Amino acid sequence: MSDRDMKTGRREFLRMGIAGLAGAALAPSILSAGEETGTEKGAGTAEGATERKFIHRTLGRTGLSMPIVSIGAQAQDPVIFKAALDAGLTHFDTAENYGGGRHETMIGEVVKGRPRDSFVITTKVYQPMDQKTGHFRSNVTADGFISVFEGSLQRLGLDYVDILEMHAVSRREAVLFEPVLTALDKLKKEGKTRFIGVSVHTNEPEVIDAVVESKILDVVLTSYNFRQPHLAEVQAAIDRAAKAGIGIVAMKTQAGVYWDRERKNPINMKAALKWALSNENIHTAIPGFTTLEQMNDDISVMEDLALTPGERKDLQLGMLKGFEGLYCSQCGRCVDQCARHMDIPGIMRSYMYAYGYRNLAQAKDTIRPVLAEGIGCGECETCGVRCTMGFNVKDRICDIARLGQVPDEFLA
Ligand code: SF4
Ligand code: SF4
Repeated sequence: MSDRDMKTGRREFLRMGIAGLAGAALAPSILSAGEETGTEKGAGTAEGATERKFIHRTLGRTGLSMPIVSIGAQAQDPVIFKAALDAGLTHFDTAENYGGGRHETMIGEVVKGRPRDSFVITTKVYQPMDQKTGHFRSNVTADGFISVFEGSLQRLGLDYVDILEMHAVSRREAVLFEPVLTALDKLKKEGKTRFIGVSVHTNEPEVIDAVVESKILDVVLTSYNFRQPHLAEVQAAIDRAAKAGIGIVAMKTQAGVYWDRERKNPINMKAALKWALSNENIHTAIPGFTTLEQMNDDISVMEDLALTPGERKDLQLGMLKGFEGLYCSQCGRCVDQCARHMDIPGIMRSYMYAYGYRNLAQAKDTIRPVLAEGIGCGECETCGVRCTMGFNVKDRICDIARLGQVPDEFLA
């Protein structure tokens, strides 16, 4: 199939299928990131970067000084990455499994030829975990972890990365799992990564404390936003870790991007980002911009973190209107209520990637392990799960599970 045919096929498919999945508003960013950003080319320029004073913070004991805004998985267009670099951002966050490795390949192309000390790359390696216990499976080995990471270096076209993390851990036992810690330590000693850490979406306080306990991990990438029901505990753990010299990177700062699935009520992105970065123990944040317009909004936050009265009000808006939102706190209380003990937090994250960030590739990557095990909602006459954030869990699962019928190449 030619590129043109593939594009036409994808358009047709999305028109017929995804319009139902995520509404008409979903299609444009998936279909035409280049077209969408074309009118704004040059919005972030090197000249602009030299004139503007951006806030930088030091990433804990790594000593890496970086702008308080970083670029992550939600940006999928090389045009945005190049513009971000030219505008003064320096830290890229990726993972071996984003888009089946395509995200790393794209970043490798973007940084090719640039001075190695002009950018900082974080990547992550996922290894199979028991979805119920959060423990690594017994067949996970140091050699297996290293072998997956070697693939990352090849795709990035680099001899080393700056930060390497074990991806999406949720338990102390996983953070301290000896084979993975051994692999990370070995790779650091060999100079294949300068620093090592973890990323966490679920059970953040326990994981962040375990990072400190490990003594050898340098960085944690954690969810952090104004909608977290367990915010006090997350903040306390972040404070303890920062005091111990751990570099703290925040993600999910936009709390799902929209208050509603229909995307009629966006969360005030600048306000949400300012709120997160007002905590000085957050050294940098990955706000998840997907367009040049959003990127420039986020970059403007780096010049002035003060929340205006209007922005403060906006952060209350969705709660006042009674929206459930797209952000799942990952509290995990649903898992034991589910007749099949499914990884509902993971499925809800996938739902947020699809409807909030319009990133169907990441949505499918996230839900892939659950799809492999099988979605069992059809066998339940009624759903006994009561979500702490008020989601109709069964509806959302059945909705997002349809991604399993979408070929990967349509989502790239
Ligand atoms: S779906 Fe609801 S109960 Fe389950 S983890 Fe998310 S917020 Fe908690
Ligand atoms: S309907 Fe789905 S989420 Fe609800 S109990 Fe059954 S399998 Fe679990």
